[in-house]
Amino acid sequence: MTPFNYQRASNVDEAVRLGQEPGTMFIGGGTHLLDLMKGGVAAPQRLIDVSKLPPLVTIAELPDGGMRIGAAVLNSDLANHALIRARYPLLAQALLAGASPQLRNMATVGGNLLQRTRCPYFYDTAFEHCNKRRPGSGCDALEGLARSHAVLGTSEACIATHPSDMCVALAALRATVRVRGARGERTIAFADFHRLPGDTPQRDTTLESGELITAVDLPRSPFAQRAHYLKVRDRASYAFALVSVAAALDVADGAVRDAALALGGVAHKPWRVPQAEAMLIGRPLSVASMQAAAEALLQGARPHPHNAFKVELARASVVRALSNAGGLT
Ligand code: SF4
Repeated sequence: MTPFNYQRASNVDEAVRLGQEPGTMFIGGGTHLLDLMKGGVAAPQRLIDVSKLPPLVTIAELPDGGMRIGAAVLNSDLANHALIRARYPLLAQALLAGASPQLRNMATVGGNLLQRTRCPYFYDTAFEHCNKRRPGSGCDALEGLARSHAVLGTSEACIATHPSDMCVALAALRATVRVRGARGERTIAFADFHRLPGDTPQRDTTLESGELITAVDLPRSPFAQRAHYLKVRDRASYAFALVSVAAALDVADGAVRDAALALGGVAHKPWRVPQAEAMLIGRPLSVASMQAAAEALLQGARPHPHNAFKVELARASVVRALSNAGGLT
């Protein structure tokens, strides 16, 4: 591991000020960043610890009925928070599907948003060609084993997937990310926070240099009663999703009034297509409407030979997750 300096910020202003220096990264629980540093994938010169800053460890109700989740809130605290469980069961389910209890007890919300892909060619520095780790070097996954890789939104430069479960639920629930940087505070719609790879796969998000994630805002949710997070993986625990589905429904008088739907494990970012939700709204939940939503989500899929199974797996998983959310089992 490359030597680095460590400093604990005493408040958010100080953290943002210190974060402007080139080579600086923020650290929360460190469950992922330290792995990257030990593996030689990340080499910050200075770490600014933001894990104990009071505004960042708070979960609060918003006046409009939504909730604000501080960026340093632990994944386990969020999953077990009474109001989150009652109002956003989709989020609680997704959190509990991710990682192990030990990791959830250390990992923070901000760190979860900033997780990097688990593409093995990215993680193992013995592989020379990875545009995400070494821009312009190529992509070993294109000619290698690509079973776990993306089928949607890929580019010639990168076919990696985003690994988070929590983020799939946040995308479906239309969250907003609050960030602070040298030019002040701004908000980023969750759909715009993570990027597709394009020809710059080294950039995972639209965060600017030195910006600190301070919180995630959830809007008031009509999805408290009917929600299901389905994660399909190679083993029952402590594994990343081959495909995951965040599905939630608001049903009144036998018809779907609103729907939240997103896929994980299939793209460089949580995959939400508003037209897919529109296929469900204004009519009773049916096999036909669920299949139409799945088709809309998967339109344009471009699988590789090793991961072609993901397309059909995702179709079936969407129908299963929506059926469970809607009580149609
Ligand atoms: Fe690197 Fe992306 Fe290719 Fe994986 S898929 S080797 S992360 S460029």
